[in-house]
Amino acid sequence: MGENHDRINELEKELANARNVLDTTLEGTNVGYWDWNIKEGKEYMSPSSKLLFGYEDREFPSKPGSWKELIHPDDLPVFLETFNKHIETKGQSPFQQEARYFHKDGSILWVICKGKAVEWDKEGKVLRIVGSYQNITTQKTTEKNLEESEIRFRLTFENLGAGMALVGLDGRPIVTNGVLQRMLQYTNEEFTQMTFADFTHPEDATEDLGHYKDLIDDTIKNYSMEKRYIRKDGKEIWADLSVSLARDQLTNKPLYAIGMVKDISEKKKAMNDLLKSSKQLEQFAYVASHDLQEPLRTVNSFTSMFLDKYSGQLDEEADEYLGYINEASNRMKDLINALLDYSRIDKKNTIETADCNELMATVLLDMDTLIKETKTEVEIGRLPTIPVYKTELRQLFQNLISNAIKFRKPETTPRIKIEASKISGYWQFTVADNGIGIDDQFREKIFMIFQRLHPRSEYEGTGIGLAHCKKIIQMHEGNIWVESDLNVGSTFFFTIPT
Ligand code: ADP
Repeated sequence: MGENHDRINELEKELANARNVLDTTLEGTNVGYWDWNIKEGKEYMSPSSKLLFGYEDREFPSKPGSWKELIHPDDLPVFLETFNKHIETKGQSPFQQEARYFHKDGSILWVICKGKAVEWDKEGKVLRIVGSYQNITTQKTTEKNLEESEIRFRLTFENLGAGMALVGLDGRPIVTNGVLQRMLQYTNEEFTQMTFADFTHPEDATEDLGHYKDLIDDTIKNYSMEKRYIRKDGKEIWADLSVSLARDQLTNKPLYAIGMVKDISEKKKAMNDLLKSSKQLEQFAYVASHDLQEPLRTVNSFTSMFLDKYSGQLDEEADEYLGYINEASNRMKDLINALLDYSRIDKKNTIETADCNELMATVLLDMDTLIKETKTEVEIGRLPTIPVYKTELRQLFQNLISNAIKFRKPETTPRIKIEASKISGYWQFTVADNGIGIDDQFREKIFMIFQRLHPRSEYEGTGIGLAHCKKIIQMHEGNIWVESDLNVGSTFFFTIPT
């Protein structure tokens, strides 16, 4: 009997030791365990379990059923159901249940409780169950936050007012929004069966694919382009596309592209109509100025002849009037020539690679007399060699430089500085002067045809020069604008895409 008792004591000591080791191991792991001895009506709840719920070992009773104080009442029924099923099926059905529990401080914990019946008696009654608790609150909250941010993303994705698509690395849409589906008449299902090249206009596919490759190769961070899509019914849709790439935050591996598509068909159509009508206007201006040349030449030459022959033979007033006629017809000649230049439709115009340094040198040579007369100092930076409409670009340089000299400040040495720098996708040129400057309110107006800020008595001119420059830059698909301070100087900027 005594021996038996000793043996039991020994075993209990061993068990306590083992539990101690296990508890030490579990410290700080968010895991605890329990051992319910039904036969003896005892339950061991490990200190690690109690700690999980915020209690010191001695603060919480280790006895059967005490866990019921901890579990959230709403989750108790499902918990008991899982437990009972495990027992009824003799352990076939796993006992594992996620449920809410109360922490000592009143907060709610998400915990997985797992158990296993390990001893049964001859009649099949369960004698002992062991199990564990695992605190999964952090995972749960992260999951919930993720879910919420996913909902937010979904809402944005759907309601942005633009077509949206997430596109896989193989070019296949993973998901599209309603706007895009309506725009191109495909369902989401149909989109996912295609690659974006399948609904892109063949002429725009190569460019789009090229950018897409650069994006995946990480040589660019995003891109935008105007492109044409082909709608399901075959209609061409002009769109403004912006694409960026989502990468794995840890490995930087590309995951998928995010494309935003705006329908600009209407805008394009209006633009085309405008272009067409401005082409017609230019054509008209060209024909008109061309046909005006002939009668003007007659007026001009006969006025000159008249002056040669009869000047001094009539009275003084007649001489004066003739002088006015002569001057006006000369001015008209200048105007018509400028208008002719502006509206000339040169069909043989082609883009050719030109060294802008050389182009500039010829312009300066042509203007040499004016430059010397006005003692203008010209400084030229390194200019690029790029494909341009040569004749037109030369004309543009000439216009800007002659303006810079014409609108110089009195009693100041005119200084002109011409430079170019490469900015992503285009070259930006600047022509800066130290002249009279331009009031901010006229910064746009001066690029319109016939718009001048000064009477002719102050500065000669036709008001066509800058309009012509603008047209030339538009031919190059660039932009032109001015920044200026009155009485300090002006800098004209223009860009030419590479
Ligand atoms: P024009 O020189 O024949 O008057 P432009 O179209 O070349 O016509 O220029 C329009 C107007 O812009 C000029 O009349 C002038 O008022 C202003 N402008 C152009 N260039 C300059 C400049 N470099 N400095 C100050 N004003 C300028």
